[in-house]
Amino acid sequence: MLIGPQNLPENLRFVRSRIAAAARAAGRPEDSVTIVAVSKAQPASAIDAARNLGLVDFGESYPQEARAKIDALHAREVTWHFIGHLQSNKTRLVASLFSWVHSIDRSSVARRLSEQRPFHAPPLNVCLQVKLADETGKAGADPAALEELAADVASLPRLRLRGLMCIPPPESEPELQRGYFRRTRELLERLRARGHDLDCLSMGMSSDYEAAVAEGATHLRIGTALFGPRPTEEKPEEEEP
Ligand SMILES: *Cc1c(COP(=O)(O)O)cnc(C)c1O
Repeated sequence: MLIGPQNLPENLRFVRSRIAAAARAAGRPEDSVTIVAVSKAQPASAIDAARNLGLVDFGESYPQEARAKIDALHAREVTWHFIGHLQSNKTRLVASLFSWVHSIDRSSVARRLSEQRPFHAPPLNVCLQVKLADETGKAGADPAALEELAADVASLPRLRLRGLMCIPPPESEPELQRGYFRRTRELLERLRARGHDLDCLSMGMSSDYEAAVAEGATHLRIGTALFGPRPTEEKPEEEEP
């Protein structure tokens, strides 16, 4: 990975070639994998540059920060994905700004999103975030609670349940990375067997996207490997009421 936004074209070529190789090795068509370019902490100009290189899907984690960039780029055709932890006092903003929410981990937030989705907009695409390991402070639904959550979300009129999302614990061994992604795919298959029509596995980040492709990821959320290290990771605390 190269440092700085001026290296975006080369970083993107590199990431795309590795995705293509991982897809080939897994016997999957290359176009079955979508890059969601994670642009949190990056300026609107970086998103504009990435859009010029053919990237269409962008991921943001903080509603207020995203709003400014979505406003600035309103003239461009961009699909916005909300990937961060969603607090209930931010659901209205997210329901109106985004096409996708990857991080649903409780029914109450899903219900608010459905109620607050503007009537003129198409249903909001959502994924359920699943928690794969016992990490305190990490978001995500317990795998044991997934079926009930899926049933709740699928019943909401303004949401469209698309699949699962995960953020596994950091792991440098590809085989161990794959284990978490395999487990997520198995959970998706279990929900399908229950009658849910699901087509999305949102998994894989800068350090593990090839393992994710090997296990069937459809949406890779990649920030650092494209844009370089984020200018600041520090975020002002947003309070839950
Ligand atoms: C920041 C973030 C990413 C991107 O991480 P990189 O390691 O920079 O690729 C992906 N998913 C989520 C949920 C994130 O918050």
